[in-house]
Amino acid sequence: MRIGHGFDSHGFTDDPNRPLILGGVEFESGLSLAGHSDADVVAHACADALLGPTKLGDIGTVFPDTDPQYENANSIDLLRYVATLIAKDGWEIINIDCSVIAEHPTIQPNKKLMESNLSEAIGAPVTLKGKSTEGFTDFNGILCYAMCLLSRADG
Ligand SMILES: [Zn+2]
Repeated sequence: MRIGHGFDSHGFTDDPNRPLILGGVEFESGLSLAGHSDADVVAHACADALLGPTKLGDIGTVFPDTDPQYENANSIDLLRYVATLIAKDGWEIINIDCSVIAEHPTIQPNKKLMESNLSEAIGAPVTLKGKSTEGFTDFNGILCYAMCLLSRADG
């Protein structure tokens, strides 16, 4: 068994044409996040949690942001690719649990759909909770922490 931890953060951008995608769900919030891909902080944190303990790199080495093919990439697809990568290396995913820290938007209405998108992508249960910043001022983006449990037959 190995435990993995991932973290990601993206700041808000004022680009009016950029959708806000979290856990593969488009939020109708008038907000959007800066980033080379679709800036899905939840999918990115999950991918890093999976990659860390497997020693297969991290999201920056597997999907370099200098590579044009990842511009506006669908991060649920990137997460799905990471899951196949670590499965090929002999790892089984037990689960992932995430905390999404956002003052805006409210995560709760889309929580179940996000969990189902993420679970489908990795083929294992993903749970998440939305946390507000409780008075942090000038909090200008969204953060996500993810922890995973992995196992492999050969220890
Ligand atoms: Zn990211």
